Amino acid sequence: MRIVFLGPPGAGKGTQAKLICEEYNIPHISPGDILRQAKKNETVLGLKAKSYMDQGLLVPDDIILGIIEERLKQEDCKTGYVLDGFPRTIYQANALEDMLKGLDTDIAYILSLELSEKELVKRLGGRRVCEDCGQEFHIEFKPPKQPDICDNCGGNLIQRSDASACAIEKRFSEYKEKTSPLIEYYNRPGRKFYSISADTGIQEVFASIKRVLEAD
Ligand code: AMP
Repeated sequence: MRIVFLGPPGAGKGTQAKLICEEYNIPHISPGDILRQAKKNETVLGLKAKSYMDQGLLVPDDIILGIIEERLKQEDCKTGYVLDGFPRTIYQANALEDMLKGLDTDIAYILSLELSEKELVKRLGGRRVCEDCGQEFHIEFKPPKQPDICDNCGGNLIQRSDASACAIEKRFSEYKEKTSPLIEYYNRPGRKFYSISADTGIQEVFASIKRVLEAD
């Protein structure tokens, strides 16, 4: 099962992608997670990506394509995967098609999460992440048992460095300009494209996604 997740920042792609990967036992491929880890470890990749990410800008295509190409060749991707946050530009989508042709496969499902901008801003501002294990929380929708402490490992919960008002605005404008054209790109005959409302709770959205995947 090879799935691409589309949707604006804050729609819950990461949360849903993780649930799908657990349910169907396939890897979760998120360039955002890979880059955050690289930033934390101060690797060459992390240092290259840092200033783009902190400003809410997309990281250059060549950096992202290198990450994805390497990841898709790994053994655990043979049975499928969820791509979360890739592709984010038409250029990346065309490059993905070429990569998959080379591997003699194609994307099976494109799931597009939809949510109003007002709700997205609310969701993004309340996000917290554990600085040690990366577990995500939300002060309103998925609060930790103790304020600012990770339920998983006891680490400190912090806001992502791209969660400032200015970076959030930039992430939206990048999404509108460069990523939203992918909806038209993928929503065409012959593609299994599904638009899913993300305006309910985590489990309700997950149930809608499962209905789509299991109806096939
Ligand atoms: P995410 O966790 O998916 O919201 O990604 C966090 C940040 O990583 C984005 O705001 C970008 O700076 C960078 N990033 C992640 N995926 C991509 C991509 N496919 N293309 C360009 N930049 C990306």
